[in-house]
Amino acid sequence: MARKLADAYGSVVPPLHLSVVHAHDSLESARMAFAKLGQGYAYSRMGNPTVTEFEHFLAEIEGAHPGNVWATNSGLSALTLLVFGLTAKSAGGKRRIVTSSYIYGGAHHQLSLWLHEHGFDVVFLNNPFSLEAWDSAFACCPTAFALLETPCNPTIDVFDIKAIAEVAHKYGVPLVVDNTLGVALQRPLELGADVVLHSTTKAINRHSTGLGGALVASQGFVDRFEDLLNDFDVSNGLIVHPMSAWTSLQGRVTLERDMLDFSRIALGVANFLNSHPKIREVYYPHLPSSRSYDVAMRQMPRGAGGLLSFRVKSFEAAQRLVELLKVPYLGPHLGHSESLVIHPASTTHGKLTPEELAAVNIAPEMVRYSVGLGVPEKVIGEITGDFAQALDQI
Ligand code: PLP
Repeated sequence: MARKLADAYGSVVPPLHLSVVHAHDSLESARMAFAKLGQGYAYSRMGNPTVTEFEHFLAEIEGAHPGNVWATNSGLSALTLLVFGLTAKSAGGKRRIVTSSYIYGGAHHQLSLWLHEHGFDVVFLNNPFSLEAWDSAFACCPTAFALLETPCNPTIDVFDIKAIAEVAHKYGVPLVVDNTLGVALQRPLELGADVVLHSTTKAINRHSTGLGGALVASQGFVDRFEDLLNDFDVSNGLIVHPMSAWTSLQGRVTLERDMLDFSRIALGVANFLNSHPKIREVYYPHLPSSRSYDVAMRQMPRGAGGLLSFRVKSFEAAQRLVELLKVPYLGPHLGHSESLVIHPASTTHGKLTPEELAAVNIAPEMVRYSVGLGVPEKVIGEITGDFAQALDQI
């Protein structure tokens, strides 16, 4: 049988549905759609056909059941959904969260400042490599969920999902893995994670045309928390806009190939920087010198993604370098189809205190680079040639 078409007109591209309201021919049908009991839609804060299409795509990438996804309007709102859903009274009322300190700066700020302001107890683990550290954090007190970002931004460390999930499950704690940097290169649910969190704004979209986030969950997690998260999502207006869902669907066919190309290009650039005399240290998990090398080769052997970081001799040298580079845009984003460079300590992680930055290895002289796409050998040549001219001047 021929492939299923996207709509009654034979479109092969999923249609973009912008209608906020969906009308019904009977009150009973409207009631069913409103209560999410039937197939239909009622109002786009509660669901939308383009968003459903996007959720099915995200489920497929992560190996989840098509219904087990909440697509939200940003990566940070996916975290909000998780926090307020899982710490609700009806979910057991545990107001404690254990997280790796090695997370995106905005997520760190949400957890350390805003949740603290609202009386949550958030425990940051400065050594997420240590299984004992996770174990004693869970053994201490009842915990709503644990958060791990791997690979993490910007030190690109890779943590052992399977081992950490086993420790969390010993205490009945759901493990949430932010897989934004590792999408299509690893599947955390298959390694024991209960939920995958995404900023779909990044490599899933790849063209900087749609802000979005998502939670993709295991069946066991959905059985326990589905009603609660559905209700929190709808009652707080967290759903992604259909336009962002649609633009983020456009690269679905080449996502895996592009992630492999990102990885190949990043490794080529990392190798070049690693042998350059003006570079102090390169952070990329597929370099044998990386402290994450063994876990990375086991957990994501096909590639480690398109983000890498490195240190030069001083903050002044880092500042000069990012301004001298001609290939990348100077901007705070990653997983974009064109190269981007940024200084994490003053931007993406700028809200962390000097002590918090030091605890997660973000030095003032660190630079982060997100490689672009294209014919891999050609892009590697362009980026390394650009680095050669800029490094000559610092
Ligand atoms: N998770 C990671 C790893 C990120 O890098 C980011 C943003 O940079 C986020 C989550 C937050 O995503 P968003 O900007 O879509 O809210």
